[in-house]
Amino acid sequence: MEPLFLQPVFQEKIWGGNQLHTIFGFDIPNEKIGEDWAISGHPHGVSIVENGPYKGWKVSDLWTEHRELFGHAKGDVFPLLTKILDAEDDLSVQVHPDDSYGLEHEGELGKTECWYIINAKPGSEIVYGHNAKTREELAEMIKEERWDDLLRRVPVKKGDFFYVPSGTIHAIGKGIMILETQQSSDTTYRVYDYDRKDDQGNTRELHIQQSIDVTTVPAISPELEVSESKKGKSSVVTYLKTDFFNVYEWDVVGELSLKKTGDYTLVTVIEGYGNLIVNDQSYEMKPGTSCILPAQITEWKVEGEMKIIASTPGE
Ligand code: ZN
Repeated sequence: MEPLFLQPVFQEKIWGGNQLHTIFGFDIPNEKIGEDWAISGHPHGVSIVENGPYKGWKVSDLWTEHRELFGHAKGDVFPLLTKILDAEDDLSVQVHPDDSYGLEHEGELGKTECWYIINAKPGSEIVYGHNAKTREELAEMIKEERWDDLLRRVPVKKGDFFYVPSGTIHAIGKGIMILETQQSSDTTYRVYDYDRKDDQGNTRELHIQQSIDVTTVPAISPELEVSESKKGKSSVVTYLKTDFFNVYEWDVVGELSLKKTGDYTLVTVIEGYGNLIVNDQSYEMKPGTSCILPAQITEWKVEGEMKIIASTPGE
């Protein structure tokens, strides 16, 4: 069994830039690329396998027709989505529904997500949570556009990690690149978009009522229990274990031997170069390389000097 290496899927965004080219070396189609959907089974940008016996397959079709690759995991859709985002400009202030609201109103999963900050220009900020004490107060502050009172802003730097459960009002600020691990969903309720217009002079749609419905009030600030285990010069950082996904950083200096901890493993290189070794076969890894390690691959080695974000499905 080979790792399933995946072709990037680029998404143009009003707030996107060119760092997926300048930093990650991708051949991007224009200078407004906001997102690389690195590992996706979502119909709005599905990953295609680029090597081995499944070359040319969509991840969504493998999920349907070759569930054994995923340890016979349950569910109608491949549940995870890994993205690399380049925010040249501010993203809209937004909130995502949970599974029950998402399935009822949008016909898809809700969206709990988390962010590893790949880099951030000095002074960069995110919006993370809000100050309303009741839903009435939330509605009032939105209606009166009291954004400075409502929104909590948090300065960020390279290497920070944020857990963003569904119901959290949030926005990635300009100058920030992140690796996002999220549920496979493309449902975003926009609260505020800075009254921005696109090239045609159109503003993007807002979803005020849905936002008020799904926002967690009062806001909660999840406490992360980050742990690190050293293995020689390398280390494994565990950022998050949730019902949706578990997220790790593999900090590779020299080599790092690993065993599978979930049905299957999602792997994306965010920095550096090296190799992934599976069954004595070596695969080149560089910034942006993404693959799925199917259930049949139970151990592997990474070598070189790399930072990798890996995730496994939640239980
Ligand atoms: Zn979001």
